[in-house]
Parts: sequence; C-alpha cells; structure tokens
Amino acid sequence: MEWLLSGFAAAAALGFSARWNWWRGKVSGLPVLMYHKIGTPPPGSKLRSLWVSPENFRKQVAWLLRNGFNPVTFSDLAAYAHKGAALAAKPVLITFDDGYRNNYTHAYPILSELGAKGNIFLVHNTIGTHNAWHDPERESWVPMLTWEEIKEMQQSEVMDFGSHTMTHANLTQVSLDSAAWEARESKLRLEDKLGREMACFAYPYGAGAFVPEIRKRVLEAGYLFDFSVRQGISPWPWDINASALKRLFIRGDDNMLDFNLQLTRGKSRF
Ligand SMILES: [Zn+2]
Repeated sequence: MEWLLSGFAAAAALGFSARWNWWRGKVSGLPVLMYHKIGTPPPGSKLRSLWVSPENFRKQVAWLLRNGFNPVTFSDLAAYAHKGAALAAKPVLITFDDGYRNNYTHAYPILSELGAKGNIFLVHNTIGTHNAWHDPERESWVPMLTWEEIKEMQQSEVMDFGSHTMTHANLTQVSLDSAAWEARESKLRLEDKLGREMACFAYPYGAGAFVPEIRKRVLEAGYLFDFSVRQGISPWPWDINASALKRLFIRGDDNMLDFNLQLTRGKSRF
C-alpha cells in the first residue's frame, strides 16, 4: 500500500512539475509584465489568453505591492539612462501592448486605487479608432484609447507611454525603410502630441526584436529601451547594446501560482 501511495505522490509531483516550473532557480532583475486587454473577452473570442479579468488584475497588482515590488515607469527608465537615477528597489514594469480602451476603463482605476503605476505601448494610427490589424476570424474588433483618455492618464502620472509603431506592422514583413519609418515617425508624433520623450518601444508580435538590422533602425530612431515578447526576466542594470528586454506574458487563465512563478522564476509553464 505504501508503495502505491508514494507512487501516487510521485506521479502527482511529476504532473505538478510539468505544469508549474517551481523547480526553476529564482531569478532577479527587472521583471516586465506584458498585458494586452483587461476585461471580459467578446463572445466567440479565440484570443482569450490576451484578456485578463479585472479581478485577476487587481489580485496580481496587490500581490506585487504586498511582496515589496515597486512599479516603475518608462520615464523612470529614461531618468536612469540619461542621469543615472537609480530605479526603486525591487522594480517591476507593468506594461500593456496596443493601447486598448479597456486599459483606461479597467486597468487605470485599479492601478490608481492601489497606488501602482503602468505603461502603455501605443499604436499611433489606431488611437481613437479600433484595432485595425485584428483578425475578424479570431475576435471582433476592440476599441482603442482616445487622445483625451491618454492625456488624462498621463496627467495623473499613473500611466506612462511608449511606442508600438504607427500601424502595428510586423517589422520582419516590411522593408527596412518602412520598419525605420514605423519606429521613427511614431516616436516623433507621440512626442509632439504628448509633449514628452518616448523612451521605450515594443515590437508588434515581438517580430524583429532579435533581428540586428531591424533593431538597429529602432535604436537609431532614438529609443533608449526596446521590448521583445521573449519570455523571461532580464538582469538589471541592463546593457541596451546586448539585446531587447524580455517580458512576462500574463495570460488570461494564469492563477496566482503562475503569477508568483512568473515573477520569481521568469516562467510558470512549459
Ligand atoms: Zn501589439
């Protein structure tokens, strides 16, 4: 009987280990959380992993604060790069890709209430419209932030902003000149409209983040930090010449154990 029980325990532990990466070594550095949409997915959505419920988002931000993490902003990173201003101890970057309106209606109030800060990567040409690049087979369109909402959040200093190109182009599927334009033009236009430096850039689909010719164009546009979708935690301080920063993809069905492992191990699942 005993062998049977220990067999069960071993099998259970194996299953647990296969699903959750608790056995990985702890990682420290600058964890960068990657969110997209906060809210309830539209009916029939095939992109549910990109939607985190407001309840889960609140729990996750509360967990960060309870565990001594200090949410920092793109402006904090710029101050570090320009003036050597140290980041807060145990920094974490909460980022949102694309600039969905639900970031304003659902994430912003939670961050404000809990006293945390977030950062949104905007797609310039979609502001005030909807996600024009979406695949209607996978999800109906989702409205994007308006300039008024962006400016309100900027004034509150709860949300900071970076660029996610002009059109959400896959930079590996356009010419190098177009890739350079996507990076440069969005930086200039967002800076002009918001009156502040856009120091940070995220590659749509993560594409091109590790292609030297594309990355060169992005850094030439004047960005101080670029963000990939490669899973993990980059060390801090970071040598920008080395490569784009890694991020932690927070999925819609992540539970708090996943979240804990993402923040401490850089990965929760295979
Ligand atoms: Zn995107």
